[in-house]
Amino acid sequence: MLEYAIDVGGTKIAYAILDDSRIVAEGSLATDGGTPEERLPEVGKALSALAKENGCRPTVVGLSLPGPIARGVLLQAPNLHRSWVGRPIDEILHMLDLGVPGSAQRDALLGGLGEYAAGAGQGLDSFAYLTLGTGVGGGLILRGEPLLGTDGAAGEIGHLTVEPRGPLCGCGRRGCVESVASGTAIAKIYAEETGEEIHGAEIAQRARAGERVARRVFARAGNALGIACAAWAQVANPQAVIAGGSLAQSMDLLRPSLERTLQRHAWKANLPLPILEARLGGPAPLVGAAYYARKRGR
Ligand SMILES: [Zn+2]
Repeated sequence: MLEYAIDVGGTKIAYAILDDSRIVAEGSLATDGGTPEERLPEVGKALSALAKENGCRPTVVGLSLPGPIARGVLLQAPNLHRSWVGRPIDEILHMLDLGVPGSAQRDALLGGLGEYAAGAGQGLDSFAYLTLGTGVGGGLILRGEPLLGTDGAAGEIGHLTVEPRGPLCGCGRRGCVESVASGTAIAKIYAEETGEEIHGAEIAQRARAGERVARRVFARAGNALGIACAAWAQVANPQAVIAGGSLAQSMDLLRPSLERTLQRHAWKANLPLPILEARLGGPAPLVGAAYYARKRGR
């Protein structure tokens, strides 16, 4: 069975055709703050052209969106043009004009499902998925199904408060996991402490070389993630946490404080909780979106 998959992010929209969780053809275009009317017809046309080029006919479409979805509507998406929010998913899917049924879900849940179908989650039954990039996102996959909750944001650990007097978060509150442990937060905190504005990857290099401030910034981020993982352990008792996203490449720096805090904050009955590294990388939500649409038959 072939599927179309689309991953709408704040900066780009990635799209692909998949065959049994394998990407057959793919492309992307800039989101550029566009409305669904401005962007989706173009994505639909590009996908139709890809299908034609490859001589294939996908039968469903899966859509990954950067916000919680419930009652058939995208409820929040701070990184997209406001006209995406509150629109019925069916209306959004219709704009693609692909002539096939479709389904949509939140990106972190679909990233987790992608790992479940074809990555580090293969063979696991229940796990938490953590995305560490410019933001921090998360979701729970329980018995192979995404846990949605009443409003679609269950398991969203990025905005759990870990430092009540901590840095201001993009959501307007203080000390969320994201405000301490995202790539953006790490660069910002490092700049505040040293006056040097450098990229997260360079801060990681400095930490590995033993620079004290860089090590401390990563340890603080790991501590925040440890509290987040302990919350998952206590609430859902998953078999593992799978960590993906660009910052997961610095897991060697995050892991010591993450694991120490996790041990301290979670009850032994819900431990051990191994922290595994994701295997799919950037395309995880595409793989998950295709899998979700295939499983639901739409
Ligand atoms: Zn927040």
